[in-house]
Amino acid sequence: MITAIKAAPRLDSRGNPTVQLDLTTEHGVFRAIVPSGASTGANEAVELRDGDPSNYSGKSVHKAIHNVENIIGPALIKSGLRVETDQKKIDELLIALDGTKNKANLGANAILGVSMACARAGAAAAGLELYEFLRRESGAKKPYVMPVPFFNVLNGGVHSGNKMAFQENMIAPVGASSFSEAVRMSSEVYQHLKQILTKQFGASAVGIGDEGGFAPPISQPHEALDLLVEAVSEAGYEGKIKFAIDPASSEFFKNGTYDLGFKDDAPNPLSPEQLMDLYHSLLSKYPIVLLEDPFAENDWASWTEFCKNCPVELVGDDLLVTNKIYVQEAHEKKACTAMLLKINQIGTISEALEAANLAYRYGWSVFVSHRSGETTDDFIADLVVGLRTGHIKSGAPCRGERVAKYNRLIEIEEALLARGEEVVYAGAKFSAASRL
Ligand code: PEP
Ligand code: MG
Repeated sequence: MITAIKAAPRLDSRGNPTVQLDLTTEHGVFRAIVPSGASTGANEAVELRDGDPSNYSGKSVHKAIHNVENIIGPALIKSGLRVETDQKKIDELLIALDGTKNKANLGANAILGVSMACARAGAAAAGLELYEFLRRESGAKKPYVMPVPFFNVLNGGVHSGNKMAFQENMIAPVGASSFSEAVRMSSEVYQHLKQILTKQFGASAVGIGDEGGFAPPISQPHEALDLLVEAVSEAGYEGKIKFAIDPASSEFFKNGTYDLGFKDDAPNPLSPEQLMDLYHSLLSKYPIVLLEDPFAENDWASWTEFCKNCPVELVGDDLLVTNKIYVQEAHEKKACTAMLLKINQIGTISEALEAANLAYRYGWSVFVSHRSGETTDDFIADLVVGLRTGHIKSGAPCRGERVAKYNRLIEIEEALLARGEEVVYAGAKFSAASRL
């Protein structure tokens, strides 16, 4: 039984306030902290901010906290719903209390913390690990699949102060034999990359962006990918580590063109066709296995055109916002082949699981993601194992809020092996992990 719910403002990894939740049951106190994006999709659930310029420059979250303590908490306690069996009903109650389509009333940042904390409390009440509880909720089958970690080692876009338009350049250690080996290989590449950058650009080039990746003074996509090729080769992992890119292109789509110079003094607008040609040339030249948000959230025609002939996993982030309505639309329009899963884009755990299961029904993949404004909460590590998505991105192997997720996954892998469970590392089959 839930006996108390408390919320309080805490800082996220960018130093902005966010909501921390403490939910009490007879089994203890269960905490959740809510993340926050920067390159947010227009259709994401609403993150409620107070808008008072004198308080955290308008970003304080007192309204969301008030809503948890005065509306959600009392209603949830009164409902008598049980955390061990009623996650879906709890989430339905949260949605009904809000009463809007996008959680604009109570705030997704108020609602999500409660939903996450209920799942943690539910797992404890049922005597399960969180990943096991989430596996039960999602209906995923065994064996356990450990994900390929996609490390964003070069940060650009709105996540860093350099001139690179593309937001994320990731390395994916598909050739590892386990999750912990994948982490070791990628961390070695990260350290080689640091040395290469120091040599080429000087010590000031190894400052990091929001997700722990370096932000050197480069601007072109091929410059970033060439650096990754060199770092992987110096670490001795050629062929074992592949690449992925998230240009987060909604950020530089204006008046029908994509301005790759949007952070530079000189504009460099590309038509959708020119951008498609650029992607095709990058895909043919580099070992890229996944492309996320290559086109803007409202440029559906380009998505559909590109998807006809895309040789790699094509992931919708801003396009889908972890919402089954857009997942269905994208399926009808044949716009992509995978859904990015960010829990705060939709605002409850049940809705996130539902969107993921719909994506699976369409034969798509699901890619679990952190936000650029993160916290040390490691919920998504359990989620990726519980849902068997086979891949996760949580930034570089650097910064506490990023490595919290990777460290939790190492812990899960160790625990599963110690229990004698069958554990598969997704490896090169990460796109098909739910069917392994
Ligand atoms: C992303 O775009 O995939 C991302 C993690 O960034 P943000 O959280 O800023 O949306
Ligand atoms: Mg993205």
